[in-house]
Amino acid sequence: MSDIIQLLPDHVANQIAAGEVVQRPASVVKELLENAVDAGATQVNLVVKDAGKSLVQVVDNGLGMSMTDARLAFERHATSKIKSAEDLFDLHTKGFRGEALASIAAVAQVQVKTKTESAEVGTELCIEGSEVKSQTPCVTKKGTSIAVKNLFYNIPARRNFLKSNAVEQRHIIDEFQRVALAHPNIGFSYVHNANELFQLPATKARQRIVGIMGAKTNEKLVPVEEQTDFIHLKGFIAKPEYAKKTRGEQFFFVNNRFIKSSYLHHAVSSAFEGLLRDKSIPSYFLYLDVDPKTVDINIHPTKTEIKFEDEHSIYAILKSAIKHSLGQFQITPALDFNK
Ligand code: ADP
Ligand code: MG
Repeated sequence: MSDIIQLLPDHVANQIAAGEVVQRPASVVKELLENAVDAGATQVNLVVKDAGKSLVQVVDNGLGMSMTDARLAFERHATSKIKSAEDLFDLHTKGFRGEALASIAAVAQVQVKTKTESAEVGTELCIEGSEVKSQTPCVTKKGTSIAVKNLFYNIPARRNFLKSNAVEQRHIIDEFQRVALAHPNIGFSYVHNANELFQLPATKARQRIVGIMGAKTNEKLVPVEEQTDFIHLKGFIAKPEYAKKTRGEQFFFVNNRFIKSSYLHHAVSSAFEGLLRDKSIPSYFLYLDVDPKTVDINIHPTKTEIKFEDEHSIYAILKSAIKHSLGQFQITPALDFNK
């Protein structure tokens, strides 16, 4: 029998990898926003059309890219963020896999404009389905603009699989809010079909939470803070009477990265024990800073899950800090929950 194994061509490998990274327009939003943050931007603007089905664009004022880097950024495993596997244990950036841009460009039409501080002119690059269509000098400000058009234009089966605009839009808002909450010190804006949904100036955590959740949130928030040898916890919980029956206002950020953790959620809920109406879920916005060497975030491509070296201590610290805040602000069980 003759040999039958062959290497997949790059564009096919990229399309397959894209399946992991790019599920829907919101995944593109997440990757582009995180790249802008990693690039040190102080202002990040998101522009979306048709719930991201025709356009997701992120414009930042970060470091920008050189002509060569702009091209390389779209190669698979191209990253400026790690050099060896060891670096994964001391990660200070959101990205590291170097596959987001390559994946996005495999399944969309991408236009990039970018310029570094020192460069005299910028670079404009157009890529469609992993193929570079053009790269030309252009006039642009320092920073990067990446426009992702017609997601899945070359994979009709996946494009048809996208949900209604309302559903896709909800996912985009979720991703936007997570990144904006994780980085209060960066200004963010979000325009959908020419409507400005958010305009968030650079600020502190409390004002950012209020900017996103609405002015009424301010009176609900109770500060939480705790500092130990290996963790710095800061943030806010909402008073128990504002706990809702539905999920949606539970946010953990570890080293400024949004994460989901049912274990840590349990720590928070158990601190509220006896203070909540039946089955209601407390709202919280908690920022944990830990030594990057003590967490492993490299367990899932979308990186919302995390492994702590010392989970049990974090659980205990979280629970006691929240109990302390609830006590300090004299939050006691309401006498009649049914009132
Ligand atoms: P990763 O973020 O995992 O490194 P990406 O595919 O998201 O991989 O990006 C590849 C590289 O492109 C990054 O490491 C970075 O050097 C560069 N890059 C991407 N987006 C930007 C941006 N907005 N500004 C500057 N550089 C960027
Ligand atoms: Mg990235």
